[in-house]
Amino acid sequence: MDKNIKAIHAKKIDRTLKALQKNNMEARFIHSIDELVEVISQMVTDESTVAYGGSYTLVKLGLIDMFRNRNVKLLDRDKAGIAPEEKRRLQIEAFDSDFYFMSSNAITEDGELYNVDGSGNRVAALTYGPKNVVVIVGSNKIVRDIDEAVSRVERLAAPANCVRLNRKTPCVQTGVCMDCDSPERICNSYVVTKRQMVKDRVKVFILNDNYGY
Ligand code: SF4
Repeated sequence: MDKNIKAIHAKKIDRTLKALQKNNMEARFIHSIDELVEVISQMVTDESTVAYGGSYTLVKLGLIDMFRNRNVKLLDRDKAGIAPEEKRRLQIEAFDSDFYFMSSNAITEDGELYNVDGSGNRVAALTYGPKNVVVIVGSNKIVRDIDEAVSRVERLAAPANCVRLNRKTPCVQTGVCMDCDSPERICNSYVVTKRQMVKDRVKVFILNDNYGY
C-alpha cells in the first residue's frame, strides 16, 4: 500500500479502535504479520480448542496452517477431503471453542462489525458461544458507517467472493449484487455486531494493509 494512503489509514484505524473499545470489544493495531503471529502464539495456549470461520484473510495470512502445525485441538472445517456431516459437526462444536478466528466483511468507524453469511455458522459463532472471538481485518475493510458497509459488501466483497468460489451467480457477470435467487447465492444472514455483553470476548486486530475482500 502507498505510504501516504497508509498514513491516512492509520488515522482511520485509531478512530475505529477507540470506537470498538467503547463498544466493549478489545481492539489492537497490529503493525506486521510477525507481530500478529507473536500475539496469537502467546494468546492461544497449547491444548486450546481453536475453530475458524471461512475467511480468505485467514488463509492468506497463513493462520490456519499455523494452527495445523501447533499442539491445539483444531476444529479444522476445511481440511482436505472432509465429509459434509463432519464439517457440520465441527461447526456445531465450534460454539464451545476457546478461540474462534474469523475476519469481517466490513468494520465501521463507529466500532461495529458487519457480516453477510451464506449458511450463517460464522455470524452465529460471532454472536454467541466461543469464549473468545478473534477478528482479523485489513484497514481496507474500514468504512464510515453501516450504509457504507452494506455498499462495500454489495459492490465488492460478495461479488469478489463469488468469483473466488466459482459461484454461478449474476454478480460474477455484473460485478455488483443483483439480489439474486440463485441456488448458489452466498448472502443470507446480514448481521451487525454493535456491542458486546461480555467485555473483550470479541478481539479485533487491525493490520494497516489490504487483506481479503
Ligand atoms: S445476493 Fe446473489 S447477486 Fe448479490 S452478492 Fe450475493 S450471491 Fe451475488
